[in-house]
Amino acid sequence: PFKLGPKIHNWDQQRAAWLAKYPHKRLTPQGRPNMILVTSSPPEPCPAATGDHFLLKSIKNKMDYCRLHMIEIYYNMAIMEMDDFWIKLPIIRKLMVSHPEAEWIWWMDSDAIFTDMTFDFPVEKYEGRNLVVHGWDKAVYEDKAWVGLNAGIFLLRNCQWSLDLLDMWAPLGEKYGNHKNEVGDFLSKELLGRPNFEVDDQAALVWVLYSKPELRPHVFLENSYHLHGWWVDLTAHFDEMITKYHPGDGGSKWPFITHFVGCKFCAGKYNSSSLERCYYEVERAFNLADNQVLKPYGYQHESLSSVDVKKVSDEVTHPLERLGIRLTD
Ligand code: UDP
Ligand code: MN
Repeated sequence: PFKLGPKIHNWDQQRAAWLAKYPHKRLTPQGRPNMILVTSSPPEPCPAATGDHFLLKSIKNKMDYCRLHMIEIYYNMAIMEMDDFWIKLPIIRKLMVSHPEAEWIWWMDSDAIFTDMTFDFPVEKYEGRNLVVHGWDKAVYEDKAWVGLNAGIFLLRNCQWSLDLLDMWAPLGEKYGNHKNEVGDFLSKELLGRPNFEVDDQAALVWVLYSKPELRPHVFLENSYHLHGWWVDLTAHFDEMITKYHPGDGGSKWPFITHFVGCKFCAGKYNSSSLERCYYEVERAFNLADNQVLKPYGYQHESLSSVDVKKVSDEVTHPLERLGIRLTD
């Protein structure tokens, strides 16, 4: 069967030996575990220039979040051992084994936008867990539902367990095995609510977690905040939300991540009216986050759907006084 690379057996020991040699690399200067966020887009231009423009907004949004939270970022444009929606698996493995300092590798689709820039990923919550993904235990472990989790955003701990998971997960990508469309057909029959199409990474992950109960103690299916949130549900509430609440909640009051599932804004596969609606809502999600970024610089977007900004506070002669720093004389 297809393999991502040679089987690694003792990654935990190899990584521990490396960390013993470079103990100062274990944590960030802020004392937090090192994380690498990885996202990706195709190596060629999008069919329409607007697609590339939205990819640029998408990476700016992630750069801003990562800068504010001391997370490293890696932008992939290479097609390695697997392509299409499977592109994430090989790059995650390569980042793990090349960055022993990183405790977590965080995958985020290009069509997902951080909408709460203040929400800190609650890393302490996941002690003993190696996979964190938005989903529901019942939907995955009982209903075998295709949408029981969302594989567009997830975090994997840099450890043997995660390499083993990737080794179980990757061979289901049919194009890389000998079994043509069989796996896609099989998963459409097995999983609740999966239309019949070529095997996708999300269906394969649901299947692996369903069929291997021994993995479950190390998996956290998170739904107490929006590690993933479906854009259609969330964007409808943005206007009401900004009048009532503040960022920080990450959940129903102010979503952490808004995921534009189905928009395909680089491929442009949707008909033009749906794609226009997608672009309109991506713009609003981006600006919702950008307002949080611009606030310390004294600017805000004219409106959520406007690229123009307006000044909301004037500069002062002693800017650091606002941060509580006073000169004594
Ligand atoms: N992706 C990529 N190159 C490709 C196809 C996909 O880098 O040729 C990445 C991109 O980040 C995308 C993710 O893989 O968001 C998931 O792919 P999918 O086709 O599921 O797109 P989505 O459903 O996110 O639009
Ligand atoms: Mn997506």
